[in-house]
Amino acid sequence: MARIIAIANQKGGVGKTTTCVNLAASLAAMRKRVLLVDLDPQGNASMGSGVDKYSLKRSTYDVLVEACAVSDAIQTPPESGFDVLPANGDVTAAEVELIHVDGRERRLRSALGKVQSSYDYMLIDCPPSLNLLTLNGLVAADGVIIAMQCEYFALEGLSALLDTIEQVRSSVNVSLEVEGILRTMYDPRNSLTNAVSGQLHEHFGDKVYRTVIPRNVRLAEAPSHGVPAMHYDKYSRGSRAYMALAGEMIRREERLRSPNDMGA
Ligand code: ADP
Ligand code: MG
Repeated sequence: MARIIAIANQKGGVGKTTTCVNLAASLAAMRKRVLLVDLDPQGNASMGSGVDKYSLKRSTYDVLVEACAVSDAIQTPPESGFDVLPANGDVTAAEVELIHVDGRERRLRSALGKVQSSYDYMLIDCPPSLNLLTLNGLVAADGVIIAMQCEYFALEGLSALLDTIEQVRSSVNVSLEVEGILRTMYDPRNSLTNAVSGQLHEHFGDKVYRTVIPRNVRLAEAPSHGVPAMHYDKYSRGSRAYMALAGEMIRREERLRSPNDMGA
């Protein structure tokens, strides 16, 4: 059964989409079966995975309004190595259409449940806000990766996200947890980076991934080629960082599952 992970932060431009696409590619390179779920009307994760958002017959929108089965909206782009449930601007309409529907925050969860046995991981790219779309992502997820830049004010927005996660946990999804805190566009030469890193370790302890994602131009360039960075420049620092992250994630999970570590 797939582990479902939402990548969230209501702040835009912190590297959520870059993380979603490149982590999906890295997990796929490790022979995991991966579904990337695009929940952002900008459709950047779809485009960056090689799915043209301008020519979608079916998208996350159709799945959310129950106009089609999730399996009918999933695509397998030839080069990325993972499947994609794509999105475009239409997804915004789902929010409006569902506004008076009971259980509207559970739509994605029930849809993904139908294909959960076909994958090892589902990664959900959340939009940059705490709206109904993000809520659908959090309700569907087992864990949340919070992507963040180590900069001034970075911690400020975090409490609203943590409150939302807590609300979801205490109501619809008791098993939801913070999977990890990922530091993106990391620049160790910046003294602020170190200060914020220190604060993150204080608050979140070993939830903070040891792997950091450096600022790397290949990660920014790859989307214009419609492929994850590892298919564009395998040995770039950015590609290697996301491979390391996938490795760290898998090892963490194995540790949690391993009976020898029980009670350790
Ligand atoms: P979000 O999804 O949180 O809005 P994106 O992943 O779209 O953020 O990233 C915002 C911008 O920063 C994009 O142009 C992306 O290519 C670039 N970017 C993201 N991560 C990195 C990185 N580690 N190094 C360089 N550029 C990055
Ligand atoms: Mg994004």
